[in-house]
Amino acid sequence: MSASIIDGKAFAANLKEKIAGKVKILKEKYDLTPGLAVVLVGEDPASQVYVRNKNKSTKAAGMNSFEYLMDDDVSEEELIKKVNELNNDPNVHGILVQLPLPEHINEAAVIETITPEKDVDGFHVINSGLLATGGKGMVPCTPLGCIMMLKDQLGNLSGLDAVVVGRSNIVGKPMAQLLLNESCTVTIAHSRTKDLPDVVGRADIVVAAVGVPELVKGNWIKKGATVIDVGINRIQKNDGKTKLVGDVEFAVAAERAAAITPVPGGVGPMTIAVLLQNTVTAACRSMGIDEPN
Ligand code: NAD
Repeated sequence: MSASIIDGKAFAANLKEKIAGKVKILKEKYDLTPGLAVVLVGEDPASQVYVRNKNKSTKAAGMNSFEYLMDDDVSEEELIKKVNELNNDPNVHGILVQLPLPEHINEAAVIETITPEKDVDGFHVINSGLLATGGKGMVPCTPLGCIMMLKDQLGNLSGLDAVVVGRSNIVGKPMAQLLLNESCTVTIAHSRTKDLPDVVGRADIVVAAVGVPELVKGNWIKKGATVIDVGINRIQKNDGKTKLVGDVEFAVAAERAAAITPVPGGVGPMTIAVLLQNTVTAACRSMGIDEPN
């Protein structure tokens, strides 16, 4: 079997187009322009690229983009003060503090300062709690993008066996929760899992979010399974150049799976599109209006 490749770029482009349509309606009907504020501390090159892309995509969707660059040695107090300013700014509907933060800053303290309704990353404990209890909070972008792609691919997920490899707060755990909410039978595998090949081999849906290049071997995948590869790993090739690979051994997995996301071009592009979607949702909720379809 040769898997169909789930095109995250096309999926994201489609979603961004829909978001731009919603933004247009919100402007015309309610004089509301959703606004996203991104705070970047320090000069980490990868974070700078992410923030630049977020800024570009936000503007392209017709939304307001506010960018705050802070020095590496900014104090936790100053950063928290900035977050509080944004909490109180009515033009800002979504706040994202780019992680990781420098070591002298307590990440949890900063995240917990963001008003949960503006926490478009969905990392605030209130939002994790709402996700776990079926409430209406903000859902982390990467797992939400994965569930959108899975539902698009498979339709109803009810009763399917799903395995999430990785248990981080930002990907693994919310991913498992979302799959559970879709009535999947969910297993969370992690670094202490005893027999990972066996656990993965039983799954109709495999979501890999580990951060280890090609950890999930292609021949572990059950025939006909759907594979979502969240991992983004840069490895060195024999010629000294580098390339991006996922957490799944793509070529072999693609021979067994029914559908699989590539790296790059799979989950990655979806994350920014979902961030914009979350900002639109936050803006509508702040005004107490229904989100346009
Ligand atoms: P993390 O380091 O916080 O968590 C990794 C998880 O993998 C841990 O829970 C750990 O238990 C598990 N793990 C480690 N070794 C394992 C092993 N040998 N077997 C089974 N499980 C093991 O990472 P994260 O933030 O969840 O990110 C995971 C990957 O996803 C990274 O490559 C990251 O770059 C990528 N990522 C991509 C996006 C995107 O937009 N596509 C977003 C977030 C993260």
